[in-house]
Amino acid sequence: MTPEERADLVRRDKNVVWHPYTQMEHYRTEVEPLVIERASGSRLFDADGRSIIDGNASWWTSLLGHNHPRLVSALTRQAASLCHTSLAGITHQPAVEFSEALIKVSPNGLSHAFFSDNGSTAVEAALKMAIQYFYQSASGPRRKFLALSHAFHGETLGVTALGGVDEFRAPFAPLVMPCEHLPSPADGLEKALGALSRALEEEASDICALVIEPLIQGAGGMRMYDPEYLRQARKLTREHNVLLVVDEVFTGYGRTGKFWACDHAEIAPDILCTAKGLSGGVLPFAATLATNQVFEAFLGASSRAFLYGHTYCGNPLGAAVAREVLKIYSDEHVVEGIAQRSRLIEETFQRLSTLEGVLDARSLGMCGALDLAGTRGYLERGGWKVYERALKRGAYVRPLGNVVYVTPALNIPISDLEELLFVLEQSVREVVESD
Ligand code: PMP
Repeated sequence: MTPEERADLVRRDKNVVWHPYTQMEHYRTEVEPLVIERASGSRLFDADGRSIIDGNASWWTSLLGHNHPRLVSALTRQAASLCHTSLAGITHQPAVEFSEALIKVSPNGLSHAFFSDNGSTAVEAALKMAIQYFYQSASGPRRKFLALSHAFHGETLGVTALGGVDEFRAPFAPLVMPCEHLPSPADGLEKALGALSRALEEEASDICALVIEPLIQGAGGMRMYDPEYLRQARKLTREHNVLLVVDEVFTGYGRTGKFWACDHAEIAPDILCTAKGLSGGVLPFAATLATNQVFEAFLGASSRAFLYGHTYCGNPLGAAVAREVLKIYSDEHVVEGIAQRSRLIEETFQRLSTLEGVLDARSLGMCGALDLAGTRGYLERGGWKVYERALKRGAYVRPLGNVVYVTPALNIPISDLEELLFVLEQSVREVVESD
C-alpha cells in the first residue's frame, strides 16, 4: 500500500467506522491509527511494512501466534466441504470432535459443551443456564448473582450486570439485573472470603451463582489473586447449593501457566466459560461447559429445554479450527513451553516494581502487569504514554488506563519476547522518569 492509499483508507475509516472502546471525537481529530495489512507469529505488519510485536495477542486471542499454518489449513480444509449449518437437530464431525476434545482437557465433571460466538455470549449462556436451572428445580426460582468488584465478563446487558468496572457499568446500572458485588480477593483474601461466606449465609436461597474470573481479573486491570480463594469459593458454593460459574475466557488455554486457571486450585466449577484462545484468533467461537447435574436439570418436558441458541453456534469452521488448536497444544507442548517465557516476564516486572512511579508490578504465567502511579481507572491516560513510546520502538502494548501489561502469544519466540520486554521496560522507565 502506498502512503497515499494508506492516508485515503484512514480518511474513509474516520467517515464510517465506529471503533470499540474509543472516544471517536478524539480518534477522528488526534489519532493516526495503525493500518495492519498482515500478521504472522507474534508480529503485526503495517501498511508501511513495519513489523510490530503484538504485546496482547490481539485482545488475548492469538495464543498460538497469528496465522498458524495448521490453523489456516484446518480452516481452508473445512471451508471446502461445509462452512455452515445450524446445530439444531443437525450435527457434524467438527462439533462432535471438538466437544470430545475440549471436555477431555477440562476440569473433571464438565460433560457437555454448549456453543456460542464470543466470550460475552459464553457467559450470557451460563447465566441463563443458572437461572433456568433453579427455575425448574425443587428449590424454586432465584433472583440474583454474586460477582466480584472490578470483574469483567463482557458486553451484553446480562453480563453487564456482573461487571464491576464502574466506567463500563455506570450508564446501564439502573437497568441491569440484580447482582451483588463482593470485595475482590485481589484486594485481600481474608476480607473477600469473609464477605463471600456472609453473602452465602444470608441469601443463598436467592442466589443462582457466584461468577468469577479465576486468578486474574483481566479487563478490570490485570488484578491477580491467590488460588486459595478458588478453593474456598468452590467449597462454600457447594455447601450452600449455589452454582459456581468460572469465566476462563481470558485465563483459559494456558495464559496463567496451566491450561485452566482453575487447575492452580484443582477445582472444577459447575459451569465453565471459554472463548478467545479457544479458536486461536482465527474465528469468533465460544463454549459454555456444564456438568451432568446442570445438564440433567434441563431434561424432561419440552418446556424444560434450554431454549437458547445463537445462529452461528457450533459453526463448522470455528469448530474445525478449535479442534486443531487443541491438537497443536498437544503436539507443540504449548503449556510446557510457558515456564521459560514466564520467568522472563517475571524478572522484567520485578525490576520494574522497584521504580519510583510504579505502584505495583505483578506477573503470572504469560501475563505481566504494573500500575503507574496516579489514579486508577480505565479512562486514565498514563498507560498511553507508555503505549506511544513502545509503538515507536516497534511493540503494541495497549494499556488499561494506568495499567500497563503484556499478554503475548504463549509460543512467542524467545527473541521476540526479549525484544517486547526490553521495549516495554525502556518505555516505562522513560515515562516514570519524565513525570
Ligand atoms: N469474559 C472475560 C473474562 C473477558 O476478558 C472478556 C473480554 N475481554 C469477555 C468475557 C467477553 O468476551 P468477548 O469480547 O469475546 O465478548
